[in-house]
Amino acid sequence: MTNETWGRVRVELRKAVGENNFTAWIDPIVFDRLEDRTARFHVPTNFFGSWVSQNFRDVILRHLNSAGIGVDRVEFSVCPANAARADNANAAPVATPRPSLRAQGTGLKTGTDDLPGATLNPGYTFDNFIVGKPNELAHAAARRVAEGRDVTFNPLFLYGGVGLGKTHLMHAIAWELRTRFPEARILYLSAEQFMYRFVRALREQDTMTFKQIFRSVDVLMVDDVQFIAGKTSTQEEFFHTFNALVEEGKQIIISGDRAPVDMEALDTRIASRLQCGLVVDLHPTDYELRLGVLQHKAEQALARNPQIKLAEGVLEFMAQRISTNIRVVEGALTRLFAFADLVRREVTIEMVQDCLSDILRSTDRKVTLDQIIKTTCEYYNIRQADITGSSRARAVARPRQMAMFLSKTLTSRSYPEIARKLGGRDHTTVLYGVRKIEELMAVDSQIAEDAEILRRMLEA
Ligand code: ADP
Ligand code: MG
Repeated sequence: MTNETWGRVRVELRKAVGENNFTAWIDPIVFDRLEDRTARFHVPTNFFGSWVSQNFRDVILRHLNSAGIGVDRVEFSVCPANAARADNANAAPVATPRPSLRAQGTGLKTGTDDLPGATLNPGYTFDNFIVGKPNELAHAAARRVAEGRDVTFNPLFLYGGVGLGKTHLMHAIAWELRTRFPEARILYLSAEQFMYRFVRALREQDTMTFKQIFRSVDVLMVDDVQFIAGKTSTQEEFFHTFNALVEEGKQIIISGDRAPVDMEALDTRIASRLQCGLVVDLHPTDYELRLGVLQHKAEQALARNPQIKLAEGVLEFMAQRISTNIRVVEGALTRLFAFADLVRREVTIEMVQDCLSDILRSTDRKVTLDQIIKTTCEYYNIRQADITGSSRARAVARPRQMAMFLSKTLTSRSYPEIARKLGGRDHTTVLYGVRKIEELMAVDSQIAEDAEILRRMLEA
């Protein structure tokens, strides 16, 4: 076989494997010689050789034979002269594990220009993130991971309801890592984008490049992983990417809308992998946190728009009355300021009531005792007649106490009112029940979790 014949085979191979694979894996190999029905090629590195051998040997063999060259075997060996060139030009996937971002290898592709990530929001930084009780753990974990030192929390899994700051924290980690390690390859994207990329790679028969890109990163961040739950082949690929990176000691950060164990359609292998790292949740905001966010945002808005005057108590009123979702809180403030700018009046509580009546109303929708009873029964799988009845059996008594606790914390009903709904006992029974759950929550994580899940179900 001459170089010319090989040239013709290459044209066919290009069609067969697709442009990207061709550029990455076929183009760099150099025909050496044909000997005893064995075609020998030079490859730039050992790693490259084994990759091509595993993934493209058969297709090369087939095309050589259909070009009329009788070959039984294809062999690849490293040609030292080529090594330096191709290592830079092709960014063969990382060969050596690097335990931390500090120990950057040389000769690897660095920077993020070629990565298919999503754009980071410039406002989503740690500086702009208000820390309160509901998010302090998540914040601390995010901070730690953003230091990029040792990969101790791997993966870091952040979860919580909508608008509680998961995406904000992830972007903040990415910004921080970028500043500290400009060379590191940090890839942030949503699980949805991961899926579309993967599906496209499948369609274009170019999963090799897909794998190569995702396995060459130093830090992988995937937002809203619940999106791929139930999407079998995407989950499969995600699982392998995940394992490959963990094995190399690369940091992985993932977010989701609930705990891994509660994502029903999530591949159990992924769920258990997630469970191995650090799992932290963002709790629904409390009054202090909402007020903190409002103060921070208002300060920024007033700096941009100094003519706006804010009456006393406005932010407190909003923090009190608007939902636990920070996105909604922020949206309300933005609308309020736009309105104030338009009418050029001082922002007062009356203006808030007027301008944000729809938001206040929707947040006003209160949880009822009936809803609490129904949801609690469904959750514990017991009959409503039992919980409102007088049985003292443990299987019924504990859920009843939970319903009392939820009624007290989620509604403004009095103890006697709650007592009447739940078994007609007097108000001291309710008082005792509420206190019992509070005590148990402190020592029994199952009870604490039950309370949390129920509250979320009811407030959703
Ligand atoms: P999630 O991804 O959990 O749905 P986001 O991260 O998108 O929530 O947050 C929704 C909005 O609320 C964003 O604009 C974000 O900047 C803001 N936000 C959330 N938590 C905080 C916080 N602790 N401090 C300041 N802003 C916050
Ligand atoms: Mg988000």
